[in-house]
Amino acid sequence: MSAVAAKTVVSWTGGDGRDHDGMLVTRAKGYDVIDCALCGFRHVIPLPDAAELERAYREKYYAEEKPTFLAHAGEDQEWAELSQNDRLDSFERLLPVPRRRLLDIGCGPGFFLKTAKERGWAASGIEPSRQAAAHARSLGADVMEGFFGPETAPCLGRFDAVHLNNVLEHVPDPALVVRLARDLLTHGGLLCLNVPNDFTPFQASARASLSLSEWWVAPPHHLNYFDFTSLSSLVARAGFEVREKTTSFPMETFLLMGLDYTKDAALGRACHAQRKKFDLSLEHAGFRETRRTFYRALAEAGLGREAVVIAVKR
Ligand SMILES: [Zn+2]
Repeated sequence: MSAVAAKTVVSWTGGDGRDHDGMLVTRAKGYDVIDCALCGFRHVIPLPDAAELERAYREKYYAEEKPTFLAHAGEDQEWAELSQNDRLDSFERLLPVPRRRLLDIGCGPGFFLKTAKERGWAASGIEPSRQAAAHARSLGADVMEGFFGPETAPCLGRFDAVHLNNVLEHVPDPALVVRLARDLLTHGGLLCLNVPNDFTPFQASARASLSLSEWWVAPPHHLNYFDFTSLSSLVARAGFEVREKTTSFPMETFLLMGLDYTKDAALGRACHAQRKKFDLSLEHAGFRETRRTFYRALAEAGLGREAVVIAVKR
């Protein structure tokens, strides 16, 4: 990663002939990251084409990039169910009772689908990774193996809620994915998006304090870098109205307190265990709503590790 001169404007023409122009934010691993005027969020250029990405995610992602994820995912389950139930509680509050059809795009190993089914939702998923889709099916989930796009979207059905957890940062055209998801929703249906919250004041402060590079910039896996403003604007432009914003524990607080987990996997696991303990301690003491209020307040301040929005189709 190299230093970037101030106020450098970079331009790149995509395969569809549209010009992506924006201020150069940083450079990493042969990619420029720009704050794109066309897209309204930060992304790498050049963007890989969809076919290239499809090959990577079908076979390699869980095998090479996340080799222990499937094996260890079960260990986090009690903690992961907190945010799964937060979302389902929000969906159920915002939708009238009979409307319980859910699609999870990029459902991964299927844990969210399993939780939703246990709460009475008719839940199905689509997932490009062969290994993850097989795992989801082993949990009893109804999953189409494939990439969500113009060819597969019309085969999936109609839904009252569409959920995309850690998907939009990976895809070359997030606006297209959001438009296709909108087409599958009934009137007043809900879209729930969860992406990393990047280029935050906490990250910038941790960088300065510990002389770190921008550790969260991870092309080619992370192509897009959102925050609450750019994520909200993406859904608004697609015809949604944001109803809720929340986040997860601001992991950068560990860095700001001097614990540099960015190059130390064991310390990273220890910090992860501590944030799980924080969330579960509140839950076990009966303060679920306090935890939710805390994370909603952080989201209002633009902070927290993830940007989560729930929006209604207008
Ligand atoms: Zn762009």
